Formats: sequence, structure tokens, C-alpha cells
Amino acid sequence: MTLDPENWDETRAQGHRMLDEMFDYLATLRDRPLWREMPQDVRDHFKKDALPQNPQPLGDVYGEFARLVLPYAGGNLHPAFMGWVQGGGTPVGMLAEMLAGGLNANLGGRDHAPVAVERQVSAWMRALFGFPAGATGIFVTGTSQANLVATLIARAEALGLPSRKSGIADKKLCAYASAAAHSCIARAMDFAGLGSDALRLIPCDEHHRMDIAVLKETIAADRKTGKTPFMAVGTAGTVDVGAIDDLKGIGEVCRAEDLWFHIDGAYGALGMLAPEIAPRLDGIAEASSIALDFHKWGQAPYDAGFILVRDGEKHKAAFATPAAYLRRETRGLAGGDFWPTDYGPDLSRGFRALKVWFTLKAYGTAALGRMIWRTCELARYLEKKIRAEKALELCAPAHLSIVCFRYRASDEINAGIVADLQEQGIAAPSMTTIGGKRVIRCAIFNHRTEERDIDALLEAVLRLGKARA
Ligand SMILES: *Cc1c(COP(=O)(O)O)cnc(C)c1O
Repeated sequence: MTLDPENWDETRAQGHRMLDEMFDYLATLRDRPLWREMPQDVRDHFKKDALPQNPQPLGDVYGEFARLVLPYAGGNLHPAFMGWVQGGGTPVGMLAEMLAGGLNANLGGRDHAPVAVERQVSAWMRALFGFPAGATGIFVTGTSQANLVATLIARAEALGLPSRKSGIADKKLCAYASAAAHSCIARAMDFAGLGSDALRLIPCDEHHRMDIAVLKETIAADRKTGKTPFMAVGTAGTVDVGAIDDLKGIGEVCRAEDLWFHIDGAYGALGMLAPEIAPRLDGIAEASSIALDFHKWGQAPYDAGFILVRDGEKHKAAFATPAAYLRRETRGLAGGDFWPTDYGPDLSRGFRALKVWFTLKAYGTAALGRMIWRTCELARYLEKKIRAEKALELCAPAHLSIVCFRYRASDEINAGIVADLQEQGIAAPSMTTIGGKRVIRCAIFNHRTEERDIDALLEAVLRLGKARA
């Protein structure tokens, strides 16, 4: 029995309809509210259906999607989405996802063109970040996973490869990141068996950057008490305010102290594409590894994280495992000199590389760099308007494309304004805490955002704030 259709023409017509309607949806994003809460009957719908035993016509299943899923999505496609560090997706990315789905490639390894595409994207990243020829990279789900991969390589480097078999014993490894680092780094320490307590959070200076003097003192203190410092993580674009650590300074400490120098570039690494931002990433070329996300500033569809490792031999040594059924042959389909499974935790892997390959080719890095810089210009536009408005207080200036501010009133009123904006589908900023105060955070990552979206947001904040105060 095959699962292919009896009538290809019917499936083809249905497919064209779905594609057309999705294009219509993307072309008219502004006409709809950014977010609508799922009504109770929609929530119930997803709970009441039992595991489907009998077939339903494809058109019916699609109808259910169009009625119950599409209108209640997360809003990150919308130009007024500024809530979190999320990309807006593109029609090019959507089409590439369709092709990847059609091809159903498994990129664990072997000798086929999809692996060559992934390697080509790796080579492009090597060039972008000024890494040497021996550097390797693979796609992973996101930077959370990429940070974990880097932690595992650094762990193997610190403990020696036999530790992959014997375990980590009680070596008391410890790592360093700034207090503004993403929580997934502590989780990576946890997953790596080192414990999140072994991540030392170094305080930030007034520019939200890791205080390098305290980093040095902390490393020295840890060595004194018998700990083994093994890794420092610099952040290129903090998730709260978009600050960039002194990457050069952290790199120098890592070299002097013989630590693995990892960079969490989930947000900011692709700033390399923008000539205005690239100089601020000075020092990134010296990293031992870089984690980045194409699904944020890169606008590729979810998910598309990436890990780039300077020393490809160390990268492979931390993950490769012999197994008879995964034997590399010298000829035939089981050949191939680069098996991605040797470079990360996954065996079966999808063709994430294709949507990024399409995105980079179809838009080109120059246009992507301009789009990235434009989000920073919009953040500065927002910052300027906040400074000019007495009812508002700027809490974190635009380092990159994130701005934090408050309506001059209580925490509750600020939280109320944000929830109103989201529930009314006007815009989606989020909340964070700065200096003990709850603040409104606008993270501008969507390539569709324009000045008028910023204007509409501020007008609504002032109106809602006034009504609540
Ligand atoms: C988004 C983000 C992460 C987490 O990345 P995911 O792709 O969501 O796993 C880590 N660090 C920073 C700085 C981020 O902005």
C-alpha cells in the first residue's frame, strides 16, 4: 500500500489552493490583528478529537487548519510584533521549506547533495566570521542547542576524550558568562552534567557588558579553591537589551587562561552582514565557537540554529561514535567524507540548510544586512520619540534593535498596557525587568516593521496608559 494519491491531479489542485491562500495570507498581514486569543471552542477542539482512525479528505484537514490554526498563530509574522527576539519569516523561506519537505532528505550523513548544501552554508559562515579552513559547522534547532553543543566540545577538551566514556568524575569544571547571558547557557551546563551552579554569572558594567576585571578575579578565585575553569561565553546581543560584550577582551582572557571561548551570537552574530554593526563584533573571529540563529535576524523559517567551531577536529572528536550500521564506505551512497551526525547529538536530521541557502541566495547578504540595520534604525527612531515624550521614560537605549521604556506609572499599569496591546491585537511588545522595575521591551526583528508601526505603538501606549492611570 502506498500513501501517494490515487488521483495526483486532485492533490495537485488542493496543493495549489493551499499555496495560493498562504501567499494571500502573507500579502495581507497588516489587515488582521497581530494576535487573537484562542476562543474556548477552539481550545476544546484540539482536546476532543481522538486519534484519527479513518482518512479525511485533505481539503477537510486543510480547512480545519485554515479555520482553527491560522487565525490563532503567534503573531511573529506581523509588522507590529516586537515582543521577543523572533524573526518574521519570508515567502522564499516558505517555498524552500516546501521543497525540503518534498525531498524529505535525511542529513545525518552519507553521500548526497543535501549534505553538500549544508557544507556550503558552513563554508559561507566560515568566510563571514573569518574562521580558518579547518572550521566545521552544522545546523541545529536553535542557539539553545548550539550552546549545548559548544559546552560539550569544551567539556571534552577540558577533561580529555576518555571522559566521553568514563564520565565527568568530580573535576569541578566551571564556566563564565555575564549576568545578562541567556538562561539556556545555564541549562547547557545542567544538561552537560556540570550543574548550572558551575556557571558563574559575571556582573555587567553600566553598558550591560560583562565586567572583564571581575571575570579575571572570579577565574583566579575559582582556581584557588581547586575548581577548573574551562569556558567563557561572550554574548553578541543580549536578549534583554541587545548589548554586545567586549568580545576582544573576553577572547584575551580566554587565551591567557586557556579557556574555550564561546560566543552566543543567537541575536547579534548575523550583524556581521551589516557594515554598520560588524565593527562592533570585533573579536568574534577569535572565538573557539559561535552559536547563531538564522530564524531571528536572518528571517529564515523556524527552526534554524547553527554552531560554527574553529577546530573541526575537536568538534568531531566530541561527538563521533563508531557503529557498524553507520559504517562509512569509500564508494556508493554510504560514502561521503562529512557526516553531520559526527558533529552533534542528532542522527536523523532534516534539511534546515535549504531554507537558509535559499534565503542567502534569493535576497543576498547585502540586502539582508540593510534589513538588519534598518531594524536598528527603527529602534533609534523609537528611542528618540520616547525621549521626546514626558509621559515615557527610556530605560535601556537602543544598543542594537531593542528598546526598553516605561509609562511613568506603576509596574501594574505598565504590565496592563502591554497585555491590552496584545489582547487588542494592536502590537506585541513584551515585559522585562531593569533596575528592579518592570519595563516595556520592544525587540524589533521583523523585516516588515515600519515607522508607522512604531507611531501606532506609542500612540496606543499613551492612550492606554492615560486610561489606566
Ligand atoms: C534567542 C536567544 C537564545 C536562544 O536561542 P533559541 O534559538 O531560542 O534556542 C540564546 N541566546 C540569545 C542571546 C538569544 O537571543
